[in-house]
Amino acid sequence: MKISLRSLVFGIFCLYQLSNAQGDDKCVAITMDDLPLNIASKVNNKELLRVTLRLLGQIDKYGIPVTAFVNEEKLIVDGRRDAERVKILKLWLDQGIDLGNHTFAHKSQNQVPVAEAKEDILKGERSIKELLAVQNKKPQFFRHPFLQTGRDSLTRSTLTIFLDSLGYTTAPVTVDNAEWIFASAYDKAISLNDSTMMDSVGQEYLSYMQKKFRYFEWLSDTLFHRQIRQILLIHANRLNGDYYWGLCQMICSDGYSFCTLTEALQDEAYRSSDTFYGGGGISWLDRWALTRGYKGKFFAADPHVPQAIMDYAGVKYE
Ligand SMILES: [Zn+2]
Repeated sequence: MKISLRSLVFGIFCLYQLSNAQGDDKCVAITMDDLPLNIASKVNNKELLRVTLRLLGQIDKYGIPVTAFVNEEKLIVDGRRDAERVKILKLWLDQGIDLGNHTFAHKSQNQVPVAEAKEDILKGERSIKELLAVQNKKPQFFRHPFLQTGRDSLTRSTLTIFLDSLGYTTAPVTVDNAEWIFASAYDKAISLNDSTMMDSVGQEYLSYMQKKFRYFEWLSDTLFHRQIRQILLIHANRLNGDYYWGLCQMICSDGYSFCTLTEALQDEAYRSSDTFYGGGGISWLDRWALTRGYKGKFFAADPHVPQAIMDYAGVKYE
């Protein structure tokens, strides 16, 4: 992506926001899941490296903090951990991006027995543990696959105690979204070499994400009477390989500064009660609202993915 004058102005604006963040200002921590790439099993190492370098190039541009989460299974090729993929993963750490555990095989803690969930967590830390050890660090954060944290209170508390014993802090998400559907549509447009559709999906993505941000701002205002420090979830995919910086520009233009995940979690909001045990992988803001008894039409303003994108991606449900 070329740096246009517009990008440059926004970049300077972002840096200004970054250095002037105050306690009550809107801020967001960016988290990126499914490293090294959400469709790692479908691409060769050359493509994996190409997308990784595009993502890292954009992340590096203005030093916006990112915490990224790894699925160890995506480093496996032909039944064995692939050294080249581990090297590609190391590029993230070399750029100062913290890597957290997102399990080995992305198993839902609502769906599998506790013992299997524990095994998935342990197997998920092999490479990140080794890579972080070189920097005298340990994995700090854990992100639940599908944002599912256990189907009942016993499952959740058992797995929370297990994660605590390994030294993990759970990484919640407040700005949850269905960006994966846009990513799927974008991959399809790439495979068909349809640049018009790629542009269209990219622009729809940015517009959708802006609506999502505004929805969760409303939810924050309604529940907390202020703007909490938000945590955004996006994925390592080809869509963000091309639109990550555009997304950051949009977030900046809506008045946000960027904070680290650690800074976001200092917000008292993250100590709120959560008794949601449903199947949906939903935002923590939604969980807190449901815990307080809000339901049904209260959530009616939550933006949906445009039907045309759903149809093109061949996805029936968000
Ligand atoms: Zn994931």
